[in-house]
Order: sequence, then structure tokens, then C-alpha cells
Amino acid sequence: MDIQEKINSIKNTMPDKVTLIAVSKTRTEDEIIEAYDTGIRDFGENKVQEFIEKYDKLPKDIRWHFIGHLQRNKVKYIVGKVHLIHSLDSIRLLQEIEKQYSEKQQVAEVLIEINIGREKSKTGMLPEEVDEVVSAVEHCNSVKVKGIMVIIPKGDTDSCRLYFNKVKKIFDELRDKDFKNTEMKYLSMGMTSDYNVAIEEGSNMIRIGEGIFGKRIYNK
Ligand SMILES: *Cc1c(COP(=O)(O)O)cnc(C)c1O
Repeated sequence: MDIQEKINSIKNTMPDKVTLIAVSKTRTEDEIIEAYDTGIRDFGENKVQEFIEKYDKLPKDIRWHFIGHLQRNKVKYIVGKVHLIHSLDSIRLLQEIEKQYSEKQQVAEVLIEINIGREKSKTGMLPEEVDEVVSAVEHCNSVKVKGIMVIIPKGDTDSCRLYFNKVKKIFDELRDKDFKNTEMKYLSMGMTSDYNVAIEEGSNMIRIGEGIFGKRIYNK
């Protein structure tokens, strides 16, 4: 299957209310344009420099999603260019986003990344830290929280379902609370190997890389 066929087959199995993000890290502009030509407008990148290079060359109606760990000293480069930052993973990063976006009179829309498996190797907030973040966001003028992003630990379907379900509960709890500047609109969970389960458990934003573009080769 080529890129366009893969996109069509994914779209055929997902509900319309779910947003499909094509994760284009390591991919060429030609590959991205192939996906773009099927109608995809949401693309995900995880490195600031790679993102900026692509941003400058590719169509301006692309909605770029920043899905990688965001270093504080790089926030200044993405202001006004990113549709949604999926990876708010610390209070210090929140403060830097607030500072850089307010200087340029822009508003950042962000998702809180949750480390639901409490994995040492992963970034993200622990579930018990989330209230502290949304409380801090209440004092921000230039940051709005729009939901949650998660990368779950590797495992079988039952294990995936359990983690997705835990995240959905946190999402629902936050939605029922009334924090200023926080709205639970997007639940960004599910990748190539597990997006079907993620959608069953309430995801409305999936991030697919290899399932669209084929296997990633990092050392080219
Ligand atoms: C690479 C990446 C994806 C896509 O993973 P695939 O397995 O290629 O679908 C999704 N989310 C994040 C945060 C990623 O870094």
C-alpha cells in the first residue's frame, strides 16, 4: 500500500469525530505532500529544528502538532507556528511558554502529557501532579490547556486498554472540575499499534507515523 492507500484505510475504520494526525518526523517533504494531497492537514513533529525547516517549506494551511519533549530554550522558535503543543510536561516549561507567547502577544494551546505508566524513561506529569499544573495555568494569560496527551507503556491489548481507560478517567475528572483556562477538548492517545483500542477507550486524536509512512529509518 502507498501512503494514500494507508491513509484511506485508517480513515475508513475511524469515526469522523476523531482527528488523525500524520506523524511526519524523519519524513521528507515529498512524503508529507503525498499525505497532504489526500486531505490531511494535521501533522506531528517531535524536534524543533526539523519542524522549523519543514514549516518554512510546506503549505501554510497545515496544522502542526508538536508532540516531542520541548526544551525550554527552544520554545521561542515555535511561537505562532504550532497549532497545538502536546507535550506540556513540567511547570517550568509552562512558565517559559507563558513568557515567550505573551512577549509575542500570542496564545499557546497545549495538552498536558501524562506519564501514566510512571516510566522513568518517559517525560510527562504523573497523575497526582496534574492538578498542580492546571492550578498554575489559572494564572496564565497566554496558555490554554485543551486536553491530555499520553504515550502508554508497551504491552498487549488488555494492558493498553487498562492504561487508556485510566487516562480517560483523568480526562473526565478534569472536565468536571472548573479550572480557569482549562478545557478538556482533546484526548490525544493512540499510535500505529494501538489506535483502535485507544479510540474504543475514548480517544479523539490519534497520532500515526509508521502506519501511514512505513517503517522509520533514523540513520539516513
Ligand atoms: C513517533 C510518535 C508517534 C507515532 O508513532 P508510530 O508508532 O509511528 O505511529 C506518536 N506519538 C509520539 C509522541 C511520537 O513521538
